[in-house]
Amino acid sequence: MNSKLRTRNLKSATPNSQLSPSRGFRAIFLDRDGTICEDVGYLNSIEQILLIPRAAAAIRRLNENGFKTVMVTNQSGVARGFFTETRLQEVHAELTRLLREEGAFLDGVYYCPHYPDEGEEPYRRICDCRKPAPGLLLQAAEDLGLDLPASLMIGDHYSDVECAQRVGAQGILVLTGHGHEALSKKENWPSLPSIIVPDLYEAVRWILFNGVKG
Ligand SMILES: [Mg+2]
Ligand SMILES: [Zn+2]
Repeated sequence: MNSKLRTRNLKSATPNSQLSPSRGFRAIFLDRDGTICEDVGYLNSIEQILLIPRAAAAIRRLNENGFKTVMVTNQSGVARGFFTETRLQEVHAELTRLLREEGAFLDGVYYCPHYPDEGEEPYRRICDCRKPAPGLLLQAAEDLGLDLPASLMIGDHYSDVECAQRVGAQGILVLTGHGHEALSKKENWPSLPSIIVPDLYEAVRWILFNGVKG
């Protein structure tokens, strides 16, 4: 009786939820620059934010299918003194507002402001969160209750793919942003992405239609 009741409550609370009761939610981790928005190089004002075509639609489809959507981004511009952490947060507030205007929601935003050998303390340091280090994914998993081996990361650098694979998730490379440049160094990759696709929208289409393990 009790377990039936719990199941019913769970379903009504989270329709289409990608939740395994024992393991957590499936998440799609999304790189920011070159994946969700155009990579303009150390973007430091809200006027520079330009969404990549169909990126918002892609995120909306993930929302509709019950995935947790988590943006994970290296922002060493903070350590390098190109912009403050406050400015970075303003940029993220505007980016999430632009996405919301198109019905797309991010469940979490995580960034690494560090850099190992430039800038000032406390940002100048070897950290565990600069991708491909897995710190941001691990933190999000703890905060949001994520099932990492059932999750995927989408990005335009090989470090995004590597970051995913370090936590047992799948990595997808997109050819927007620096994707073509990444692909040209393919002979150096220690392992392959699960798939290489033109952009975020196609990555999401692949996730939804190709029976990715749950
Ligand atoms: Mg990128
Ligand atoms: Zn860091």
